[in-house]
Amino acid sequence: MMDEPWECPYPELDGFDYCVFHIHPLTRELIFDTQTQVKIEQVRAVRSTGLVQIICTTLRSIDLSILSKIVLENSQIQIGYSTIGEVNAAKSTFANYIAIEDCRVSQFVSDYSTYNSGLRIQESAIADFQLSEAEINRKATFAGTIFREGKFIDTCFNETVSFCERIPDETPLIKANDFLGKQACVFLNTPLFMGTEFNAGAIFNKVKFQTGANFNHAEFNSGCSFEDAEFQIGCHFGFAEFNDETSFVGAELGTANFEKTNFHGPAIFDQASIGSGRTYSKRHNVRNHALAEGVSQNEVECSSNLLDDFVFGDGIVSVAGKAASFDNTQAEDLMKARKVDSEGMITAFSAYFYFLNLGLKFESSSPTISFYGSEIDGGIIRISDESSFYEWVNTTVGDVSIISSIDRNPFKNILIENTRFNGFEFSDYREELRDMDWNIDGYVHDGEHEHSDRRETTYAKAKSGAERVGDYYAESQFFIREQECRRATHAEKIKDSETVRQYATNLSKYLSNLFYDISCKYAESPKRVFYWSVASIIIFPIIYRCLNAPLSGIGYLIFSIQSFTSFIPSSGVETSSSLIMLMTSIQAFIGTFLIALFVATIIRTVKR
Ligand SMILES: [Zn+2]
Repeated sequence: MMDEPWECPYPELDGFDYCVFHIHPLTRELIFDTQTQVKIEQVRAVRSTGLVQIICTTLRSIDLSILSKIVLENSQIQIGYSTIGEVNAAKSTFANYIAIEDCRVSQFVSDYSTYNSGLRIQESAIADFQLSEAEINRKATFAGTIFREGKFIDTCFNETVSFCERIPDETPLIKANDFLGKQACVFLNTPLFMGTEFNAGAIFNKVKFQTGANFNHAEFNSGCSFEDAEFQIGCHFGFAEFNDETSFVGAELGTANFEKTNFHGPAIFDQASIGSGRTYSKRHNVRNHALAEGVSQNEVECSSNLLDDFVFGDGIVSVAGKAASFDNTQAEDLMKARKVDSEGMITAFSAYFYFLNLGLKFESSSPTISFYGSEIDGGIIRISDESSFYEWVNTTVGDVSIISSIDRNPFKNILIENTRFNGFEFSDYREELRDMDWNIDGYVHDGEHEHSDRRETTYAKAKSGAERVGDYYAESQFFIREQECRRATHAEKIKDSETVRQYATNLSKYLSNLFYDISCKYAESPKRVFYWSVASIIIFPIIYRCLNAPLSGIGYLIFSIQSFTSFIPSSGVETSSSLIMLMTSIQAFIGTFLIALFVATIIRTVKR
């Protein structure tokens, strides 16, 4: 703004050496009885030159709404190095570019205004900045400026908006990163970006939100970047729409609310840190409450500040006790969060993820990310910490791969309960699953296997999940676990039986389940049938021997095999002993039964 020596363009007041803008403020008060008179004189001065160039002065107020109407076409409206009480720029349409540099402003009101040539505010301090319901049709840049209050409610930024210095156009791409985030703005209180539309890119790199930021219902229709931004308390992006690439790389998000947020483009959270380690609860009497609980004065100030804005306060309180909430979030593209530190639990209940790429490190007592009731179509989940858990209760898990960077079976860190598998490749984890003996339900904590509540359903779903990807071996293993769990249920029911009839029914169910297990492992093991057959062929000769059958040596074995394989008891031995005849019949029955079972089992197994 001030590249060359500047000369005030305005005429001196009658009898004074200075114009209306530069006369000493006290003298100004003496000359003019009312502010309206000052305003009239300001208009007169601007009209005489056609310029708004207010540099190095102290003013009670200026009215840009009026001055902008009498300014020369294509001239910049410049305000610099000044202290101004109130700038009125509301309900106006600005055809001229407006630049404000190095100013201290108590109040800047520009609600319901339209900016057709751009707006730039830099190196300034503005106590109360109001730009709600406005329309900014050209680039808007806010650089190096401190805002106490900032309101941008329902404003449309139709060109890019940056809250830090822009990268100079001539910068080679390789050096672009050196510029990003320079001269970032600071917001002392929670700025309101509720319902704000960012239609052409929004840059918030390295912006410091000393309390937090409220982006409830905001729309990012083009790319947006919050790289290295800092949210002291937290951020509220509830109901926000991210329609293009979104970057939170390296950001400190604090308590993060992404509830009902839609990501239609890729969202990258790499190297971000989530959670503030604090909890926020009651809105009322938070001061006394918190002080009584020994929370430091500074934090109390923070939270009472936070609770001034109810929407933001509610958003943060609803995440209370967690680091972040992605409940009901829809992420229709890649969501990547690698090398992320989380100070607390993260929930993603009833959410949808097209492709997740996660690598989270938890620094808290509840190191869990829960996908309760969610759907994950695909992705990569990394387990980098022994105590970090991924909860898949009621979750639909698609083609997700699990990578463990620690020397521990990753399935121990995943809570599987009533999980629906739709494309999950169990075959990629043969070793791990065998190591768990296919007991995938629940999780392992401190060496103890904590079973899940609905084990039978869990294995039934795992079974059909394995079937879906044609992994019949895993299907068979999960079917066996399912049947075992059912037996355990029968055993429970036997204990709880109230009538003899119930008792008998449950007992018979239990026993037949046990029998299927012992005889053929629920028709999953022809080997087991074969062993029983061999056992029968070996055991019966001993019985025949005890019954003194008229045989000798190898004859017993031959007789046993013959009996085993004949449907009608063999007549290979002359005997009058009805006991021997009975045993032969029994062995023939068992033989027939086992052969039939073997055939059935082997057909089932071969089909898999
Ligand atoms: Zn002057």
